[in-house]
Amino acid sequence: MSIQENLNHIKSSLPKHVTLVAVSKTKPIPDLMEAYHAGQRIFGENKIQEMADKYETMPKDIQWHMIGHVQKNKVKFMASFVTLIHGVDDIKLLEEINKQALKHNRIIDCLLQIKIASEDSKFGMTPHDASDLLQSEVFLKLKNIRITGLMGMATFTDDENQIKEEFTYLKTVFDTLRIENSEFKILSMGMSGDYQLAINCGSNMIRVGSSIFGERNYS
Ligand SMILES: *Cc1c(COP(=O)(O)O)cnc(C)c1O
Repeated sequence: MSIQENLNHIKSSLPKHVTLVAVSKTKPIPDLMEAYHAGQRIFGENKIQEMADKYETMPKDIQWHMIGHVQKNKVKFMASFVTLIHGVDDIKLLEEINKQALKHNRIIDCLLQIKIASEDSKFGMTPHDASDLLQSEVFLKLKNIRITGLMGMATFTDDENQIKEEFTYLKTVFDTLRIENSEFKILSMGMSGDYQLAINCGSNMIRVGSSIFGERNYS
């Protein structure tokens, strides 16, 4: 199936309140343009330099989401244009994003990444640390960032029950933190293999790559 067909197939099955981020990491510009011509305007990348290069060449009505782990020293390369940073897990990183956003006179929306997977390799904060951060004096002074919700990645496993438990847990954390954080509205969870499950568990933003663009080749 073509990229356009894949996209249409996925979009036709999505409830209206769910936003689709097309994860285009490692894929060439013509593939992204095919998705663009099929109407897709939100793209997700996990490397800042790659995202900045694609931003330069692609139409300017695209919203770029940074979904990967962010290195502090590279924030400056995306601060002028990034729409949403999904993977924030540290106050020092938020301070840097705030500093760079201020230079561009912008407010940058961010999601806190919560670790829900059992693998050590996955990043993220504990719900307790997220809650502390949101109430900390340092955070409350940052006027050029806005935390609009949470992001999480489930364990890479065939065990649907485990994935469901992890997503349900993140939804509970989201609902709890939402009570005291009026700007919370986005729960980013679900990828190609598990987005239906994620939506059933309360996700309203999914990040889908290979089901749209095909398998990635990292070699
Ligand atoms: C690569 C990636 C995705 C998309 O993965 P697919 O399985 O190809 O849909 C989603 N979220 C994050 C954080 C990723 O790094």
